[in-house]
Amino acid sequence: MQLSTRAVHAGRDDLADLGVHAVPLDLSTTYPARDSRAEAARLDVLSTGATVPGMPVYGRLGNPTVARFEAALAELEGCEAGVAFASGMAALSACLLASVAAGRPHVVAVRPLYGTSDHLLGSGLLGNTVTWAAPGEVGAALRSDTGLVIAESPANPTLAEVDIAALAAECGDVPLLVDNTFATPVLQRPATLGAQIVLHSATKFLGGHGDVLGGVVATTEEYARRLRQIRFVTGAVLHPLAGYLLLRGLSTLPVRIRAASATAAVLAERLRAHPTVSRVHYPGRGALVSFEVTGDPHAVVGAVRLITPAVSLGSVDTLIQHPGSISHHIMGAAERAGVGISERLLRMSVGLEDAEDLWDDLDKALHA
Ligand code: PLP
Repeated sequence: MQLSTRAVHAGRDDLADLGVHAVPLDLSTTYPARDSRAEAARLDVLSTGATVPGMPVYGRLGNPTVARFEAALAELEGCEAGVAFASGMAALSACLLASVAAGRPHVVAVRPLYGTSDHLLGSGLLGNTVTWAAPGEVGAALRSDTGLVIAESPANPTLAEVDIAALAAECGDVPLLVDNTFATPVLQRPATLGAQIVLHSATKFLGGHGDVLGGVVATTEEYARRLRQIRFVTGAVLHPLAGYLLLRGLSTLPVRIRAASATAAVLAERLRAHPTVSRVHYPGRGALVSFEVTGDPHAVVGAVRLITPAVSLGSVDTLIQHPGSISHHIMGAAERAGVGISERLLRMSVGLEDAEDLWDDLDKALHA
């Protein structure tokens, strides 16, 4: 079946047999059981990171509503399993902790990355070390203690693209983690190109309405078990209501991505011809457009009226922000310059408004 069909039905295939139409939302923190010995046996299985049929003993070990979202996202990404987290950063942290715990704390990463991901890797806060490498130099940067190769494509905030298949070929036995937040499985499925780990800030396009924070990793069942073990002890679980909203978001994901991408292509073309815009970053698809202005980028953010002046992306409304001040502020100016993030760069996440209304607002703001 096509992705748009599975986006609607994945995680819901049993609902008609259950006699319900909406996904059951289970808010339980604990699951009563009269047989403690049987529960102990189930805990022994759960503590290996495996899943068990039936209820998950306690809310930090699993949740039926969240499990539906995990299964659906894994299916859309073409992976065996999904593991959901409280945020995208919690998902990335679990992957880094898995490497550190396995005695392979060294990461090779391709820049740019989302500012806080860059900061997490560079600061070593979770005990890892990093070598920054350009595609083509990744193979040479691998060491015996390298546990992960990490890339974003398109990358935040410049929308630089990486040839994922070529990068995967460079990685050898080291798992490649691709942050697929910007492309979503509608435009790109990294697992089909050789990535073993596909990460999302579900906060963005998967949720799609700016009202849910979450993260998810689509991967092999073997790696998913390691992540579940870490999630069990760190407690960075996705709230069941968030799982419900994210599963609902998946059903409209293909429609939203196609509509927003069509509008983004129109705006990118007009920005290229605009007298106050010196450079447009647009990979030719997707809902993100980044552009450098000749004037003051802060004035543009301050002048939009229809467009929302806010960080984050992937919502139904169009958002604009200045990476140097917000999404990539934590990196510091020197690091930003080193990875090609201009202080005149603005990042815009195109939503579902009419293209002419958006252009009217943007054009006025650019002249402000
Ligand atoms: N990855 C990318 C590409 C992002 O843009 C973000 C957040 O902006 C994250 C990861 C982190 O996700 P979260 O904010 O859900 O923790």
